[in-house]
Amino acid sequence: ALTTGIVGLPNVGKSTLFNAITQAGAESANYPFCTIDPNVGVVDVPDVRLDRLEQMINPQRVVPTSFHFVDIAGLVKGASKGEGLGNKFLSHIREVDAIIHVVRCFEDENITHVSGKIDPADDMETINLELVFADMETVEKRMDRVLRQKKSGEKLATQEHDVLSKILPVLEEGKPARSVDLSPEEKLIVKSLNLLTMKNMLYAANVSEEEVANPDGNPHVQRVKEIAASEGAGVVTISAQVEAEIAELDDEERKMFLDELGLEQSGLDRLITEAYRLLGLITYFTAGEKEVRAWTIREGTKAPQAAGVIHTDFERGFIRAETVAYEDLINSGSLAQAREKGLLRLEGKDYVVDDGDVMNFRFNV
Ligand code: GDP
Repeated sequence: ALTTGIVGLPNVGKSTLFNAITQAGAESANYPFCTIDPNVGVVDVPDVRLDRLEQMINPQRVVPTSFHFVDIAGLVKGASKGEGLGNKFLSHIREVDAIIHVVRCFEDENITHVSGKIDPADDMETINLELVFADMETVEKRMDRVLRQKKSGEKLATQEHDVLSKILPVLEEGKPARSVDLSPEEKLIVKSLNLLTMKNMLYAANVSEEEVANPDGNPHVQRVKEIAASEGAGVVTISAQVEAEIAELDDEERKMFLDELGLEQSGLDRLITEAYRLLGLITYFTAGEKEVRAWTIREGTKAPQAAGVIHTDFERGFIRAETVAYEDLINSGSLAQAREKGLLRLEGKDYVVDDGDVMNFRFNV
């Protein structure tokens, strides 16, 4: 499954946020095969389209698609030099598909800040530089290797060397590898290096309960937004504390609590939605009397590979996919009516699945 790692300096609210995530967590009954790792939180991806499909079809059960968060505590200044449990944590970050970087924007005299003051710009730089340093080391090592291979005339080594030569000077300026303008082919060449700063990053500005309805009144949040904009990164404002409290409530209480705070959606739902978008993920649906279900794929996935998310047999034996766009199905009122109107398409193996497609796969076993 696709995974987002949560990073940040100590005492910024990572564990509080992560605990809220695990408490609000997806029902494990839906995920019988996923082993429960204490550092991994599984959450349902909120999607109103599922509710509407449920109303229309009235199935026995509805299964949302899910998303994984990993708590990566322990990133401190000097991690890339092995401070704290440095390198171990960096290797955990290497495994994730995207990064959520929690930045402390709440003031609280009782909770010490590692550098003694609330300064988001400084905190962001500290963490980001550790990631940059770790990548510099990776790139330099790899450079040495490809240089040797290049000398012995390997063509691929020359190509890789060219890409690395674009990345290294940017890292040396303290900037992330994702800010280097690379073609898709070039990205593929360095993909296996798993550079930390090549991963997409979303900042979570952690504000106090009082500020959560109007976070822009907090100058620290403004600062986070400015910096994020300059990096092309996203920002979600959230109060980890509030999320932890919300996670303990049932649905009705939660709605009342959010109303009181002047919020429409919990911060966690916004965070999940944003992280999903950040990863370039989209959703397709299967919809039958027995089960209405959402499935996650990467944007650009073709029908057989989309079917493969359900079962490898579906991909191997793929024949075609009966497909209707979500809007068309809802507007038609039923699958039968959508078919009558000619809105149900038969798509083959080259079809690129769209967000919201409702699909029924035909396959050979
Ligand atoms: P971590 O080290 O980043 O995992 O930080 P924690 O989640 O353990 O939080 C550190 C301390 O800050 C804890 O005592 C939390 O209760 C507190 N904390 C977290 N979020 C908030 C917040 O939004 N407001 C306030 N006042 N305290 C918070």
